[in-house]
Amino acid sequence: MKNNTRNDSTPGAVTCFVTRVVQEKLAKLGITDEFDLLLHLPLRYEDETHLYPINDLPENRTVQVEGIIIHSEVMYRPRRQLVCQVEDGSGILFMRFLNFYGSQVKAYAAGTRVRLLGEARPGFFGVEMVHPKCRIVREGEPLADALTPIYPVAAGLASGTIRKLILQTLQRLVECGDPQSHLSETLPGTFLRHYRLQGFRDSIIFLHQPLPDASAALLQERKHPAWRRIKFDELLAQQLSMRLHYRQRRSQSAPLLLNKNKLTTALLQSLPFELTSGQKKALAEISRDLAASHPMQRLLQGDVGCGKTIVAALAMLQAVENDYQAALMAPTEILAEQHYQKLSGWLEPLLAPLGITIARLSGSQKKKQREGALADIAEGRAMLAVGTHALFQEQVEFDRLGLAIIDEQHRFGVHQRLALRMKGTHADAVPHQLMMSATPIPRTLSMSYYADLDVSVIDGLPPGRTEVTTKLVADTRRDEVTARIREACHAGKQAYWVCPLIEESEALQLKTAQETHETLSLTFQDLKIGLVHGRLSAREKSAVMESFKKGEIQLLVATTVIEVGVDVPNASLMVIEHAERMGLSQLHQLRGRVGRGAEASICILLYQKPLSTTAQERLRIIFEHNDGFEIARQDLRLRGPGEFLGARQSGVPMLRFADPEYDRDLLDDARTVAEELLRDHPEAANRHLHRWLGRKSEYLRV
Ligand code: ADP
Ligand code: MG
Repeated sequence: MKNNTRNDSTPGAVTCFVTRVVQEKLAKLGITDEFDLLLHLPLRYEDETHLYPINDLPENRTVQVEGIIIHSEVMYRPRRQLVCQVEDGSGILFMRFLNFYGSQVKAYAAGTRVRLLGEARPGFFGVEMVHPKCRIVREGEPLADALTPIYPVAAGLASGTIRKLILQTLQRLVECGDPQSHLSETLPGTFLRHYRLQGFRDSIIFLHQPLPDASAALLQERKHPAWRRIKFDELLAQQLSMRLHYRQRRSQSAPLLLNKNKLTTALLQSLPFELTSGQKKALAEISRDLAASHPMQRLLQGDVGCGKTIVAALAMLQAVENDYQAALMAPTEILAEQHYQKLSGWLEPLLAPLGITIARLSGSQKKKQREGALADIAEGRAMLAVGTHALFQEQVEFDRLGLAIIDEQHRFGVHQRLALRMKGTHADAVPHQLMMSATPIPRTLSMSYYADLDVSVIDGLPPGRTEVTTKLVADTRRDEVTARIREACHAGKQAYWVCPLIEESEALQLKTAQETHETLSLTFQDLKIGLVHGRLSAREKSAVMESFKKGEIQLLVATTVIEVGVDVPNASLMVIEHAERMGLSQLHQLRGRVGRGAEASICILLYQKPLSTTAQERLRIIFEHNDGFEIARQDLRLRGPGEFLGARQSGVPMLRFADPEYDRDLLDDARTVAEELLRDHPEAANRHLHRWLGRKSEYLRV
């Protein structure tokens, strides 16, 4: 969480007691005021409160010993090093420095009493410490009376300096006794008791100056009550801001879109399949929300291929039944086009007799077409609109938008989503909003980062799907792969060949795609091969996709533009080149393009060695798992929430201390407390929010 929104001239600013130079260095650590400083919590602690006898040193732990140097020598074999023998009456320990100054050679002369802090290991000469922290002491020098905190540092600002600054600040705050200070308690006492939380002030003081008998393990694992309190407060601030946001949206009014069961029933009856129980459940939740007088803010999650589009179509019809418009926005032109085709196929037979049309909008449209679509939308002839982000540009005016649906929402930034929502033309009614995502968000994350949304989950896939078999194949065995593709295509199957992702340059990516297409055309002279990539016009793209769908093309060479949504059930083979460069959710999405028909499907991941550890790990996960939720969970573990959530983070307070998965119990409590505070103690909620998020919380209320 960045605090750059806070003002330097506030009374709590660090300005009042440090020089400008130090101030700038602190700013690099994200510290701009006293509260930031208090929250600059130690990474770990060193225990200088005990001395251990040399003959009884615990392994794998940083420990302190004290002794006299009995011998000191610069040795040259196997390389130049300073080796000293330290004796404490119980035994002898070798201290070894591979890099050292002349001054150290002098200082560590025989007869000198030293205290060493380091990890002891069996070494070349005997038990040794390599590069310990070494301090010359007098006999009987007192030991530290608290664990020594080690702080995250910035260039030119040592942990010790930071420690001093923090201790000064703490002391001043304690002495001033101001009940409104940064150390004051934000939670009512009943809450502290009921949720067994330690006081805020005590927790902060403790973390900066833990007592010698504090459990180093609890501190290290951040399970100590003091740590738990800080994490709780952070989670609480996050929950408060998001729940506040949620409540505010709920206090607005939205069009009542009652479920009239006319068009929706007609559509359901015309489908060649029945909804799965997961789809039915999600639809019921959405339908109920639409019929409420406040705007829906729901996230629909479900694995690739679970059938979210039909649920969206049914929700859109519920809007139409109530004479409101509905819009569906997709992140790519291919997907928008496919949605348009799909909706037309399903809905036109129902809507045409009523004189209702579906408009489509995309960036690459001809001016005339576009103007026609805009007019249809503005004058309410088109009750449904499908498109890319072209849908929420300024020129687009809806006559009466009742429902905005955003597919693959993780591909859009917060601002784009807000923009579409704001498209409601009736000043007094905000359109309902449904977001859909095939990148499942693990439950703890969605409880925390998506606390401003209601979540529906479609469990399971439609019946008759066959699990995709994944194969990992080294690039050196390409020939086997091409032989296999040829054989399959001759047997009437269709395949995707996904080109390597080249993140650095779109031009290079295009070049690679074209080259791959050329090479494969030579390899497979007996097959019909198509090429689709992001630079084709919308018309060209849909022409290629159309002939692939019709089976005119057998092998489709594609960039990752086909990653989301594309649905061609007859395609049952996929080759992904340089799979090691792709992220987990991308691989899972790509793989989701096959396995959509009754045919047993195969996804071949070609990789090139050497593989980095993470790449290896990613390939292992995608190989072992087919379930999107499990893959997401593992992805989260690999990357951490910040990267995992991507665009979502702009506008949502990220967590510094708490980890929703690890601190699940605290998250549960924070959710409850947030609701209770907002209901019963709004002033405490406010104070807490202000402390943790400063002005950032206002941004969230956009
Ligand atoms: P996603 O959730 O990934 O967006 P889609 O909506 O594209 O999935 O659906 C994938 C395919 O499954 C489509 O061809 C769709 O028509 C089909 N489908 C959806 N629901 C069902 C169902 N209940 N039974 C059979 N097929 C279904
Ligand atoms: Mg989809």
